Amino acid sequence: VSCVFCRIVAGLEPSSAVYEDELVLAFLDLYPVNPGHTLVVPKAHAAALGELPEETGAHMFRVAQRVAARMRCGPLRPEGVNLWLADGKAAYQEVFHMHLHVFPRYEGDGFHMDTPMVRAERADLDRVADLLRAAPGVTAAG
Ligand SMILES: [Zn+2]
Repeated sequence: VSCVFCRIVAGLEPSSAVYEDELVLAFLDLYPVNPGHTLVVPKAHAAALGELPEETGAHMFRVAQRVAARMRCGPLRPEGVNLWLADGKAAYQEVFHMHLHVFPRYEGDGFHMDTPMVRAERADLDRVADLLRAAPGVTAAG
């Protein structure tokens, strides 16, 4: 399997998981904008938005809302949250397996679309994933 996200879904590469069900896996980005930066990916490979079943896309957004709620209600205490999906190289897609970014934002954190990302340490990712999994999450659906 050459796709890195398929390898993560299959357990062939390490990941710091935040959430998992039959359709999607959510895990921490190795190059976080801020601690807690999560990627929600479909378990079935879809390189582009046009290859992603609508139901799976809708479910990715649902899970992203839940992850964002855990960010908001947990110890990360972001001042804002970005959801972001890139479809195509021109749109800054770098891994060609669909993923919905969920990342905490803080006033003055300095993030811009072209900010170079720094690779995180696995121990730090695991610690933050533990915080997110343990955080209460409140969405309108409950
Ligand atoms: Zn894949």
